[in-house]
Amino acid sequence: NPNRFSVIIVGAGISGISAAKVLAENGVDDVVILEATDRIGGRIRKEEFGGVTVELGAGWIAGVGGKQSNPVWELAHQSNLRTFLSDYSNARYNIYDHSGKIYPSGIAADTYKKAVDSAIQKLSNQEANLDAAESSFLSETTPTQKTPIELAIDFILHDFEMAEVEPISTYVDFGEREYLVADERGYEFLLYKMAESFLYTSEGKILDSRLQLNKVVRELQHSRNGVSVKTEDGSIYEASYVILSVSIGVLQSHLISFVPPLPRWKTEAIQNCEVMVYTKIFLKFPYKFWPCGPDKEFFIYAHHRRGYYTFWQQMENAYPGCNMLVVTLTNEESKRIEAQTDEETMKEAMEVLRNMFGPEIPDAIDILVPCWWNNRFQRGSYTNYPIYVNRQLLHNIKAPVDRIFFTGEHTSEKFSGYVHGGLLSGIETSKALLEEMRKASDKKNEGQAFL
Ligand code: FAD
Repeated sequence: NPNRFSVIIVGAGISGISAAKVLAENGVDDVVILEATDRIGGRIRKEEFGGVTVELGAGWIAGVGGKQSNPVWELAHQSNLRTFLSDYSNARYNIYDHSGKIYPSGIAADTYKKAVDSAIQKLSNQEANLDAAESSFLSETTPTQKTPIELAIDFILHDFEMAEVEPISTYVDFGEREYLVADERGYEFLLYKMAESFLYTSEGKILDSRLQLNKVVRELQHSRNGVSVKTEDGSIYEASYVILSVSIGVLQSHLISFVPPLPRWKTEAIQNCEVMVYTKIFLKFPYKFWPCGPDKEFFIYAHHRRGYYTFWQQMENAYPGCNMLVVTLTNEESKRIEAQTDEETMKEAMEVLRNMFGPEIPDAIDILVPCWWNNRFQRGSYTNYPIYVNRQLLHNIKAPVDRIFFTGEHTSEKFSGYVHGGLLSGIETSKALLEEMRKASDKKNEGQAFL
């Protein structure tokens, strides 16, 4: 059967590619990678916009300059990827109110400190196993009482940072620096570099039949003896094992039916996992009207609605003269703008910019709004585990079912939500699978010796 393999890998994001690479390095070549879209990369994705290459998904290499070397940073180094150091911490000193005034740095610093202290307090309450009802009461009631600057800082702290509140493995292990990728080959070039080492490529294109694009997996039959996978175009693939790298959002969405259904401990873990939506909206202008300079890369808009066009970045450092701004929205705001037209979104963004910089600024000439929530192959941007992760939840998210091995950013205990989390999870999953294959072959050999 030409469609019979040792291992089927579902998804060609960084975890799927790194899993396949480890298998190939260990002599397991009889593999097929089934990818739903027409490209590799998944949530690492570039697009040409306004004359430059922008990153719709992952944009930073987070965790650089520490004791250990971040494997993604190493790959970037080998590929000569063009990167820029980003310093978010300046953002809190560039907070605008609705009349365009910048909050004095003392007020900003005090508000920030208060927010950090309160987050630490909240966490220690959670740690002390505060009554669940009381803690949800706190989180529901506090935001409505906050001022615009408090809301803006709450948004930056909780939706971006938290490193000041609790040590985060990425920064502890790999260092505190973050580098913005600004390369015309895109962040995704790192995936091509990895793929090139084990798949047949020519002139920068992967031509290896072990990578099958436009194959949307819809059904996965599994038992103790093997797996069978059905794709939307009616093809059937069989294998001894499957590595499933689709996002937790996709697993929650039931795009793939499992026959028999996944056990309850697994489906409960999947449903209990929180998915964050994170959207970068790109706006191109005829000329720039915002302040530039190294400490002006980020600025913030304080509004009475939390997360309303709060976090802004100007792209001048990365691409001088590109006249581009990026505004980041998350969760409910992301879902709201995905449901409206780009014209409406541009109008809202312009109103916010005019509040900050005055009525005479020019209209944007183009807008790019990525949709990670309504993308049926993503259904969100990344997992957001609470800082005190429920160990059992994480264990159950990752644990194999029959011959289905789960991988992806969401299965990384220390680095979920990051590119390096995806990369390292792929390696870890393949190592676990290789161990399983070794055990199975030892058992078979023992059986034969006995006969
Ligand atoms: P994915 O990249 O999602 O790969 C899964 C693949 O499976 C996809 O290619 C998908 O098309 C495919 N697939 C889905 N369903 C099917 C199906 N039914 N059949 C076949 N194939 C299927 N990380 C950082 O380190 N730094 C950042 O700055 C950063 N910013 C981010 C910003 C945004 C907007 C987003 C969305 C993510 C960001 N991340 C960032 C997170 C990072 O991109 C991810 O953690 C990482 O890329 C996930 O890789 P993965 O292999 O686990 O999943």
